[in-house]
Amino acid sequence: MIPPDNLCRWIIDVSQKVAKQKKEIPVVSAILEVSFDKRGGLVFYENGYYWKIVSLSSNLVKKYNQILFHSEYYAINKIKSKVNKLYLNDYYLISNLEPCLFCYSTLILYRIKTIYFFLYRDKGISSIDIYELSMNRKKNKSKKILNHHIPLIHLEQYSEKQKKIFQNFFQELRNEKSPKVFLNL
Ligand SMILES: [Zn+2]
Repeated sequence: MIPPDNLCRWIIDVSQKVAKQKKEIPVVSAILEVSFDKRGGLVFYENGYYWKIVSLSSNLVKKYNQILFHSEYYAINKIKSKVNKLYLNDYYLISNLEPCLFCYSTLILYRIKTIYFFLYRDKGISSIDIYELSMNRKKNKSKKILNHHIPLIHLEQYSEKQKKIFQNFFQELRNEKSPKVFLNL
């Protein structure tokens, strides 16, 4: 199952708004409930399914001075304050960036149903590396790394647009930090 196009574009728009504020890295995550019924709240429809946003967060590391307040982790915290369940196995997560290892582990522990992301991380060990390694070990019947293999799906069609937003964000930060140099030739 693939999330509606207008929902993914909406998440990209949110990340663009976060980027414009120039405070936090514009990573955005949404947790969704998918059903056949239209219920209240922010709902996106495609192919007979209604995708309702039950939790939305951006990165809040600077705001709260908390290194763990990544968008995925904070979105989980928000839904946990509303839903009295130990596991979140009925919910889907969409993030505009591939989750880091910390968030990926958190999402696995909460047994999120499926993780979708738009852009691969370009540094370090990523969640997709762990996922693929574990799947290969499972295939070879050697010891698995993960107990649960939650689908981790790259939505490549949004990759370029999202990449530009991150690139512009970091470029603008660099421009602001570097002293302005005027050449009088
Ligand atoms: Zn993270």
